[in-house]
Amino acid sequence: MSRKLTSSRYEEIKRLGADWIEDYDLVYPLEPLEIAEVLGVHVAIHADGLPPTAQRFSTSDGYTEPVASRHGWKFRIHVNGATPELRQRFTLMHELSHIWLDHLRADTTLTDDRAEGEANFLANYMLAPDALVVMWVPELSISSIARAFQMSDEAAELAHGRVIRAISRNAIGRPHDQRIAESSTRRIEPPATELSAWLGLA
Ligand SMILES: [Zn+2]
Repeated sequence: MSRKLTSSRYEEIKRLGADWIEDYDLVYPLEPLEIAEVLGVHVAIHADGLPPTAQRFSTSDGYTEPVASRHGWKFRIHVNGATPELRQRFTLMHELSHIWLDHLRADTTLTDDRAEGEANFLANYMLAPDALVVMWVPELSISSIARAFQMSDEAAELAHGRVIRAISRNAIGRPHDQRIAESSTRRIEPPATELSAWLGLA
């Protein structure tokens, strides 16, 4: 059961990620709930775990169901709210990646296994794109990547491995990297003094 994609498909998914960042002016660290909202996707977070329907999708993290509406087909994502917050962020990006990659079309020819591999790859890439990791975490430590992009250590380790591979293949600075570097913005944290003034400490 291999989830490995071809290298040209990986590159294609990175380009689709760059489109997503550009088209929606995404701001980092990503706010997956906001992304769902601009895409018109409804999100249900189940604090006590997923409803029994989840068994049909053999998942304990989340799933997406198409819903018929007056305006055509829409999507509703269900997230297991009983899992750690960072995992929920990843789950939501994974489900949104299925939607962005058109995996939920009735005429899709992808196997489930391949679709899962693609959604996992894009979710991780979107949370911490190569170009932004290199720009914002130049020392490339896993813990700093996790902190800067609000990911679990496990997800940050995957992003780290992907960036190291891209660097070793001299595959950083491609057009999609440049587009991402130019269009994504970073949420600015207020300087410490300003923050303490807000908190009434100054
Ligand atoms: Zn999936």
